[in-house]
Amino acid sequence: MHELKAILEKMSGATPDEIALVEKAYLFAENAHKDQKRFSGEPYIIHPVETARELAKLGMSARVVAAGLLHDTIEDAGVTPDTLEAEFGKEIRFLVEGVSKLGRLKYRGAERHRESLRKLLIATGKDTRVLIIKLMDRLHNMRTLRFVPEQKRTRIALETIEIYAAIAHRLGMGLVRRELEDLAFEHAFPKEYAEIRKVLTEKSKETLERLHKMSRVLFKELAKEGLKDMHINYRVKGLYSLWRKLKRKGVIDNIYDIAALRVVVKDIPDCYRALGIINNLWQPLPNKIKDYIAFPKPNGYQSLHTTVFSGDGGIVEIQIRTEPMHEEAEYGITAHVLYKEGTQKGGRTSFDWIKSLIPSFKRGRLTAPGERRRYGARGGPEWLADLGDDAEEDPDFENALKTDFFTHRVFVFTPKGDVVDLPADSSPIDFAYAIHSDIGDHTFGAKINGKMMPLDCVLENGDIVDIQTRKNAWPISKWLDFTKTTLARRHIRLILDKQKKS
Ligand code: MN
Repeated sequence: MHELKAILEKMSGATPDEIALVEKAYLFAENAHKDQKRFSGEPYIIHPVETARELAKLGMSARVVAAGLLHDTIEDAGVTPDTLEAEFGKEIRFLVEGVSKLGRLKYRGAERHRESLRKLLIATGKDTRVLIIKLMDRLHNMRTLRFVPEQKRTRIALETIEIYAAIAHRLGMGLVRRELEDLAFEHAFPKEYAEIRKVLTEKSKETLERLHKMSRVLFKELAKEGLKDMHINYRVKGLYSLWRKLKRKGVIDNIYDIAALRVVVKDIPDCYRALGIINNLWQPLPNKIKDYIAFPKPNGYQSLHTTVFSGDGGIVEIQIRTEPMHEEAEYGITAHVLYKEGTQKGGRTSFDWIKSLIPSFKRGRLTAPGERRRYGARGGPEWLADLGDDAEEDPDFENALKTDFFTHRVFVFTPKGDVVDLPADSSPIDFAYAIHSDIGDHTFGAKINGKMMPLDCVLENGDIVDIQTRKNAWPISKWLDFTKTTLARRHIRLILDKQKKS
């Protein structure tokens, strides 16, 4: 029970009902996982508890914390979604199912898969809370990665950098991104990790001494100019981001590559005053003054940056921001009321692109539960069209997002979790032919997400499609009315022609 306490401790202001919900989820999960162990030998329940605790720390709602506790009960303990819904309601079922679905995605390392996985994560994670639970799940798995068999570690580490850290960045969750990257770095690129560590140890002593001295001088100067309620800190940059910088530039020759001084002040006018004071105190480098307050980065990041000569041969980057900006840089989307209450109040414009990912907040559901579009009806994921641009940070990922890819493609799965990428409005027939022409030619029925569905239905992002075949089943001309891919149409025509001739 003390694990439960560790979660509740982080939920300040929770109502008795909310506490009861989390308690119930804890007991349910503990029972569901009771015979399971982690690779570390610990009882399995430690993992969902840690996931839930991180969610509580981020200030997520009791329902999300409960979903965190339950997140592996479907996939790893055989609990049915219906049971979850009966015990905890629709919303928690939806969240846990969403996390389970993401868990089924397989990472193959090939560039193509990597790209489609990223897109898919966003396309299937329609509710950002699902992604946040998944991130906290991954965070705990990374913290315990050393217990995982060695041959698995590299794949998990690469996947963490390529996909999960990229998503954390996208959500503005700087702290999570950095921890994921640094935990993964060692396992994904052991040699490079060792090199960077060496560089950093050599440089960091001198660097930290300089930063310490500068922060004292600066604090005095700002106070003298009348600034109140401020604090200054500094930190060495993450190992992984340092390595990326090194790869890009070739050398780490300046202190501003490995550390930054951070000034947190009372309000925006004070930010600009502090900038003036700093640039007056130390000579700034030209072209290095950046105003991300007037022009926030697309992921919501705001700060003033300047890079100055410290006067003793060093160069230091200084970031100036208010407390709310600081919180946002560290916690990103989770710093917003939006996800604490599951409503739109308090949302900010810098996160508009996120809101556009969540149809239930903005435009109502795309299709009612249980209702599925049949061929010919219009509609589509217009809510995925605007994903903002942040080309400076990660050009590949951002450019991929900038295209209107989602509006033209749909990603579905085989029962084994392989991703099949089809044009929008594809039917199970298109899917069948994409797997193999033999399967297409003998398609008899289609199970979608476990339910038999008509062959002329329209596939949706995230569907799991299981094609039923029969030896004596053959294409009929009607299929041409609801197939989208040239591949499928060509095969169908081929068979139809053969039938005509014989
Ligand atoms: Mn898990």
